[in-house]
Amino acid sequence: MNITDKVIIITGASSGIGEATALKLSSEGAKVVLTARREERLEELKEKIESNGGTAMIVTGDVTKKSDYENLVKKTLSEYKTIDALINNAGLMPLSYVEKLKTDEWEKMVDVNIKGVLNGVAAVLPTMIENKGGNIINISSSAARNYFPGGAVYCATKSAVKMFSEGLRQELAPKYGINVTSIEPGAVSTELTDTITDEDIKEMFKEMQKMTFLEAEDIAEAIYYTLVQPARANINDVYIMPTDQQ
Ligand code: NDP
Repeated sequence: MNITDKVIIITGASSGIGEATALKLSSEGAKVVLTARREERLEELKEKIESNGGTAMIVTGDVTKKSDYENLVKKTLSEYKTIDALINNAGLMPLSYVEKLKTDEWEKMVDVNIKGVLNGVAAVLPTMIENKGGNIINISSSAARNYFPGGAVYCATKSAVKMFSEGLRQELAPKYGINVTSIEPGAVSTELTDTITDEDIKEMFKEMQKMTFLEAEDIAEAIYYTLVQPARANINDVYIMPTDQQ
């Protein structure tokens, strides 16, 4: 599809992949709806988009709260009357070895990485079903395919997102023309590792810095590619790794 004037909600738009995606899609003419908890960062991004000639609106919120999603959808519909795509991107990655029993961090990952995606889908689905069309793009991870040290819970959340995406696709694409994609990047240079509190894992990531990571813009390009396909073509998965990563 041509994304000019399409209304696209992007969660986790305040940094990293979400921010790069908002810049890319708005530069291609989409009306982007930016959501995350850090309002200042969203304001800065909105200004940047508008100074580039794009269109953006902000609705701050927490993806774990259904009421915040209801507010997001209500405000989007009131401003733009429709929703064409949802990019479920918000996520956390506080890695640790299971034996450390950082159960509060496990819970946060389940809440944001899994329940946040479910909340997003539940919020936009009535509009997309009524429209008989749309795109739902869920940011899973290469972690849905490959375990890495300290990643047992994170990998489990991303596997859940990948499998949920496939179930959604099978249920929604043939019946309503709603296309669903799971994006599965390897290591991308963003703020994601800032949520790690485990000292052993932090050391591991210092070692990893020698590798060339993907940039957030690389994932934004993959998302754009997914969106501009003809409605008959559902891109199921995009698995994209840094050349250096095994
Ligand atoms: P960032 O840390 O830069 O971005 C994460 C975003 O999620 C932020 O905008 C943050 O906004 C938002 N977020 C976190 N918790 C919540 C919440 N409760 N409610 C609303 N928004 C929330 O990392 P990335 O850009 O790398 O991460 C984006 C996605 O990509 C994640 O799902 C991640 O798992 C996935 N991914 C990342 C990879 C990488 O190597 N970087 C590789 C594979 C997948 P705020 O704090 O303002 O709410």
